Amino acid sequence: MISKEDIHKVLEGYDKKKLTIATIGSHTALQIMKGAKDEGFRTLVICRPGKEDFYGRFGIADDILSVKEYIDILDDEFQQKLIEKNVILIPHGSFVEYVGAKNIEDKLRVPVFGNRAVLGWESDRGREREWLIKAGVRVPREFDRPEDIDCLSIVKFPGARGGRNYFLAKNAVEFEENIRGMKLEDRENFTIQEYIIGTRFYPHYFYSPLKNRVELLGIDIRYETNVDGVARISHLLGEHPNPSFVVAGNIPVVARESLLPRMMDIAENLVKASKDLFKPGMVGPFCIESICTENLEFIVFEISARIVAGTNLYMQGSQYSQLLYDEPMSTGRRIAREIKDAGKENLTRIVL
Ligand code: AMP
Repeated sequence: MISKEDIHKVLEGYDKKKLTIATIGSHTALQIMKGAKDEGFRTLVICRPGKEDFYGRFGIADDILSVKEYIDILDDEFQQKLIEKNVILIPHGSFVEYVGAKNIEDKLRVPVFGNRAVLGWESDRGREREWLIKAGVRVPREFDRPEDIDCLSIVKFPGARGGRNYFLAKNAVEFEENIRGMKLEDRENFTIQEYIIGTRFYPHYFYSPLKNRVELLGIDIRYETNVDGVARISHLLGEHPNPSFVVAGNIPVVARESLLPRMMDIAENLVKASKDLFKPGMVGPFCIESICTENLEFIVFEISARIVAGTNLYMQGSQYSQLLYDEPMSTGRRIAREIKDAGKENLTRIVL
């Protein structure tokens, strides 16, 4: 286990005038690097072999390093190389999925933006739910056993797998029919959740401990195949066997203005709860996946406490970020701005 003190010792040795913002080449890496360049930082991207040309072609990567597998960034020698370049790593969805929340907490000596303890909370469905409930946020009902299913339900599996293999079931028989063909590890590790009908809103927030402020930077909807396609021809399908929920893209959305205060309350309560659950709490970008019901109530089924892929819609800023910043402010750039604002004195408040 790497302690905060270990990380802060590494930070102490850094040349703060020559910080490099780095991430792995996937997910939101382009946005993160563009934001870092806009704020005047050096950038570095860690790629799998064959991706170097792609990441080089935009002129926003000062340095490109390759690793055979992403997990290799944990090798001592590689970590030392990053530390010598005064690197602050920015975690994103693929980063957490490929390297592993536990490995990041236990083995990564390189400073990571944010509170790394949050990654263990947001990547574990049980802990995530505890956090949402503590924040007083409405969550869907869950069923411990297939026999308990008493309404249309969605069955999910662990990890950020982009909805892969999820299925719907109205009762235990439908559950058994669908789970039968799955891999053993999935058959033993599923979550059964009430399926909420409504409109999806996935707001992107940023919590700045320096300003003690939660900011709304954008909202998206995940564009999912084939469920979003099924809706267009549902009249032809009759009883469709089972839609899938695989993310294929993201769609921008704005919310009715009267819904925004509730959206902000949810975010503020989540930040408050995080301070009790894992001191000093969440830092930086986070997103909730919510459904607005016909009673205009938000039900939240997921929290991601890091930059999410939907923010790629707003590399030039969004309607909401424009209200706060009269300049193009993406989430990637907002991260870099926080690091810049922290300066030498406050870096240890945002790199934990
Ligand atoms: P998740 O892996 O939790 O992000 O879920 C993937 C997708 O499944 C979401 O983007 C939604 O479209 C759908 N989904 C997940 N949970 C629910 C739910 N409780 N009710 C309705 N749709 C859901």
